Amino acid sequence: MSRPIFAHIDTEALQHNLSVTRRHAPHSRVMAVVKANGYGHGLARVAYALWDADGFAVASVDEAIQLRDLGWIKPILLLEGIFDASEISLCVTHQLSLVIHNSEQINWLRAAKLKQSIPVFIKFNSGMNRLGFPPANFRIALAQIQSIPTLSPITLMSHFATADDQYGIATQLAEIQQHFALLPYPMSLANSAAILRYPDTHRDWVRPGISLYGASPFADTSAASLNLRPAMTLHSQIIAIQTLKTGDALGYGRLWVADRDSRIGVVACGYADGYPRHAVTGTPILVNGVRTRTLGRVSMDMLFVDLTEIPDAKVGSQVILWGQGLPVEDVAAAAGTISYELLCARAQRVPERTL
Ligand SMILES: *Cc1c(COP(=O)(O)O)cnc(C)c1O
Repeated sequence: MSRPIFAHIDTEALQHNLSVTRRHAPHSRVMAVVKANGYGHGLARVAYALWDADGFAVASVDEAIQLRDLGWIKPILLLEGIFDASEISLCVTHQLSLVIHNSEQINWLRAAKLKQSIPVFIKFNSGMNRLGFPPANFRIALAQIQSIPTLSPITLMSHFATADDQYGIATQLAEIQQHFALLPYPMSLANSAAILRYPDTHRDWVRPGISLYGASPFADTSAASLNLRPAMTLHSQIIAIQTLKTGDALGYGRLWVADRDSRIGVVACGYADGYPRHAVTGTPILVNGVRTRTLGRVSMDMLFVDLTEIPDAKVGSQVILWGQGLPVEDVAAAAGTISYELLCARAQRVPERTL
C-alpha cells in the first residue's frame, strides 16, 4: 500500500493541448518535447497520448530508446545531441536525430565514418548563449557538417531566451534571419511561448513543451485564457486534524502562529513528493474543491492547510495540490519558481491514479 498521494494524468488534456498547439502553427510539424520523463507526467503515458505528434524531442539516448521500445518510428531529436563519441552507434541503431551545437560533436561524427545517414539539427546561438555556434563560427560549422555527406538531412535550429517575457524575440530573430538567409534548409525555432505569441517564428518544426502539459509559459497570461488544460493533477488527502488556540504554533520552526482559534488539516504531501519546500504560508490549495491556503513549513511527507473556513473537511477529504481547479502556475508563483520545475519534480514515489 502506498500513501494517499497520487498524480492524475489526463491524456485527453494532453491531446487537446496538442491540437491547440497545432492550431497556432498549422503549417509546422510538431516536435513534442518530452524530456525529463515528459515534464514529470511519465514518458510512456505522454508518448501514447501524443502519438499524433510528428516527432519527439528528448535530452538523452536513454529516453529515446524508451520511445523506440514503445514502437515509436517517427523522428526523435536529442536536444543536446551526443555527450561523447560512444553514443554514436546507438544513435545510428535507433535512427535518432541529433542537435549539433559544438565542434567536438562534429569531430566525433567525422571520425565515426558513418555508413548510414543521421539527421542533424545545427544549432545557432542567436543570443541565448547556452548551446550553439555563435555568429562568427556558424558558417564554418555548417560547411564542416555539409562536408560529411552522412549528416543528412540538415535542419537549422535556434532557441529563444525571452519569448515568454516583455523583452521578446526581435533581436534574436533578426540575428537568425541574417544568418539563415538563403540557406536551403528547413528551420526549427519556436518553443511554446514563441508558438503562442510569434507566428513569424513557426517555420518547419515547432518544439512545444510546457503548452502540451497545459501550463502557460507567460507570467501574465493564464493557461485557461490560452485554452490549455492541465495534464497533471497532484492530489492527496487530509490525514489528521489539529485544533489550535490563538498563539499556538504550527510545525517545524514554529513558522506559523495562530492569529485566531484555528482548525488545521495535515495533508499527505511533502517536499519528498515534489511539493516545493519554498511554498510560503498562503500558497493556494484545494480541500473538497474549496480554495484555501497552506500554513507554516512544508515537511518531507506532510504539509498544513487552513480548514477554519471549511468545517465539513475531515480525515480522508480530498486535497488538490495543483491541476484541475488550481493552476500549477499559482503554486509555483507562491514558491518563487515556475510551473516547469514543479511538474518535473513529481517524485517517483507518487504513483499515477485517476481523481
Ligand atoms: C525544453 C525545450 C523546449 C520546450 O520549451 P517549452 O518552453 O517547454 O515549450 C524547446 N526547445 C528546446 C531546445 C528545449 O530545450
